[in-house]
Amino acid sequence: MNTSVAPRAPLLTIDEARGAVIAATTAIAGEESVPLGAARGRVLARDIASPRALPVFDHSAMDGYALALVAGERRYRLAGRVVAGQAPRAAMKPGDAVRIFTGAPAPPGADCVAMQENVAASGESIELLRPHGAGENIRHAGEDVAAGELLARAGVVLDARHVGLAAAVGLARLEVRRRLRLALVSTGDELVAPGEALGPGAIFDSNRPMLRAAIERPSLDISDFGILRDDRAAITEFFRAAAREFDLVVTTGGASVGDEDHLAAALTAAGGSVGVARVAIRPGKPFTHGRVGGASVAILPGNPFAALVAALLFVRPLIERGLGLPVQPFAPLPARAGFDHPRTLERTEFLPARVIDRDASGLPVVERLGRGGSARLKPLIDADGLAVIAPGEAPVARGGDVGFLPFGAAFSL
Ligand code: AMP
Ligand code: MG
Repeated sequence: MNTSVAPRAPLLTIDEARGAVIAATTAIAGEESVPLGAARGRVLARDIASPRALPVFDHSAMDGYALALVAGERRYRLAGRVVAGQAPRAAMKPGDAVRIFTGAPAPPGADCVAMQENVAASGESIELLRPHGAGENIRHAGEDVAAGELLARAGVVLDARHVGLAAAVGLARLEVRRRLRLALVSTGDELVAPGEALGPGAIFDSNRPMLRAAIERPSLDISDFGILRDDRAAITEFFRAAAREFDLVVTTGGASVGDEDHLAAALTAAGGSVGVARVAIRPGKPFTHGRVGGASVAILPGNPFAALVAALLFVRPLIERGLGLPVQPFAPLPARAGFDHPRTLERTEFLPARVIDRDASGLPVVERLGRGGSARLKPLIDADGLAVIAPGEAPVARGGDVGFLPFGAAFSL
């Protein structure tokens, strides 16, 4: 009898795994209209063309005097007053000045506005303290935006700039992609939710709140399924139900191959399939990706740091892909090691790290925090990001190359 064990497939590199996960996930279809107050962070579904020109009408950029210029003339006759919000005044004749305030419509015939600081006013006339040319201090209709001009393209994530411009042209609502429906669940017999009593052998479920905080954004509709027991039938039932309703399912715990690790088997039992397993990362190797029904499924490890690393590496691109956004590459910044570290031969390693210095060329020098371990979260609190150590045989020595993923970029999902 041949008792030899089949050689296991080589581990996937991060880029291979990310590529496979993205290829197995489609962008959602479906749009909805939202008021401007709910538009921030949503993905624009259609190009926006401006319904009108901006500015809407010629107006003054300053408090001062509108002038109907006469070449070489310094003295002008005061012929009226106009403030912001008033309709344009009667047409000006050459030699007229009209007292005007910022935002007020320029009267027809006005060539420019003289700032009040450059004018001496006395009763019925004013005197210019310096010569003025046509066009000065007047903002012309359409000089910012022409009617019909493209303001923003479909696929952008809306922020304050888009909201401001849409409001300026009078749009009250925008067409956006519907939110990505994401199901989040923890699994493990030992877990209780924070706030509940901690019985013998129990621990608090830290991953579910942490993952939610890491991924939450306005374009996601997150449903929290709480804690599932290590029960294959119950987890299978969860996947069956989720397959019908969700675009993306994120689970944590039970991702490895132990007797109580049921996630991959339950996914298959629910009619789903596993595509990606065994990625060359530490921590996070048990990360598994598959599909069930219309849903893309990310099975994250239970160890908290491992779950977080897997979320940053894989859940983030899954969300970007699902929303039809460009997928941001996995691109740690170049940095210098402020520590010595043996390398693993085959896995990319992630370590909590703090920037302690800059080297002569300006690269951050990073120091590792904590003594390692995929379960520890506390070292992250003092860290500025993750040091990324590529696989290879030579140990990392102080002053050597490492990658660095700053938290600012990593968590702005
Ligand atoms: P597992 O991946 O289920 O084998 O779990 C690995 C380790 O992570 C175990 O020590 C679990 O108790 C722990 N763990 C699993 N799920 C969670 C969770 N949601 N929050 C905190 N720790 C967890
Ligand atoms: Mg478990």
